Amino acid sequence: MGTRIRLSAAAAWLACAAAVAADRYCENDVALVDTHFEGGVFHRCVVRDGNFVITIRPEDDKVRVPMPWYAFRVSPKKPGVAVFLMGFVDGDADRFWPKVSADGANWQPLPESVVAMSDDASRLAMRIPLRGAPLWVASQRLLTTAYYDERVRQLAAHPEITMRTLGASLRGRPLFVVETAPRTEGVLLLGRQHPPEVTGALTMRSFVDTVLADTELGRAFRDRFALVMVPLVNPDGVAAGHWRHNAGKTDLNRDWGPFRQPETRHIRRLLEVIEDRGIALRLMLDFHATQATENALFYTQRSQDGDGSAHAFAVDWLQRVQDRLPDIEFDHKPSKSESANAKNYFFNRYGIPSITYESGDETDPAWIHRATPLFAEEMMNVLLNAP
Ligand SMILES: [Zn+2]
Repeated sequence: MGTRIRLSAAAAWLACAAAVAADRYCENDVALVDTHFEGGVFHRCVVRDGNFVITIRPEDDKVRVPMPWYAFRVSPKKPGVAVFLMGFVDGDADRFWPKVSADGANWQPLPESVVAMSDDASRLAMRIPLRGAPLWVASQRLLTTAYYDERVRQLAAHPEITMRTLGASLRGRPLFVVETAPRTEGVLLLGRQHPPEVTGALTMRSFVDTVLADTELGRAFRDRFALVMVPLVNPDGVAAGHWRHNAGKTDLNRDWGPFRQPETRHIRRLLEVIEDRGIALRLMLDFHATQATENALFYTQRSQDGDGSAHAFAVDWLQRVQDRLPDIEFDHKPSKSESANAKNYFFNRYGIPSITYESGDETDPAWIHRATPLFAEEMMNVLLNAP
């Protein structure tokens, strides 16, 4: 009898667990849909009337910013059309335009003709024609931890660059720091605190490539400044396809001060090492993405913050870029908040320009590749002009 009670309790627990655990695949007669790859995730997939009904929801109940990440693979069983009815729990279907890829690496926005959205942006429908080969569908292009492994290895082949790990994330993934030769002054770059902000990662890549280029300006800059970068601050969130948090249910860009998470603590320790080595930080740039801008948005200090020099840096920098490319549009928002974000932490601690460098969620990669090198070059020019 006792055994039977325990079994039924276990059965109830299993049923309950099944009700909350995320699905990894579903199928109909046309295709199999799965999330068995890095960054692949949806909460639930069921087939109803031949359609794939997919539910998207945040990774935990503390997520406050609706950044509905999803990514799944569609493997055709025969030529046909797969219809996806997507429901968003606590998220906006219109935050990200759905994208499709034939190889998981090169992505295109889905044509408007095959996407429909409900008026309240809680639901999205997609009709995707299938031929023989699998397709990937995602709210943003996939840049996984494997991408960063490759990127860091590639950077480390540069003769001036050293790469090491700061330590492990909460789930044991390495946190890489990539540095140019030590100098008495330094610039810190942070990336990917928020997993879905992929255009910010593309921007950071272009920015870094410009600073590392074998140009007169790049060489002069690297002779005077050490470039220190942590390109992937939140590897667990990226790997799991999170909307916002790390594996500790925390928005890492609200942990600069509390330092409750290993990822931010490792970077705090990195800063102590930088100070011990006699490197004076001159600038911090933190790469993100937002729907609040078409192309780029810079959250900087205000003129009344500190001695005004952090604001003056931003004005000089951004004006130089505008002068060189008068036709490009971007936004500058001097701001101050009490948020425990990197921008506030680095300004309060070091008094240096500490800037959240936002790309637009849907900014065309062509815009990023045209404009970002200029932002990098003028950043170098302004810092090299300083006494
Ligand atoms: Zn962000």
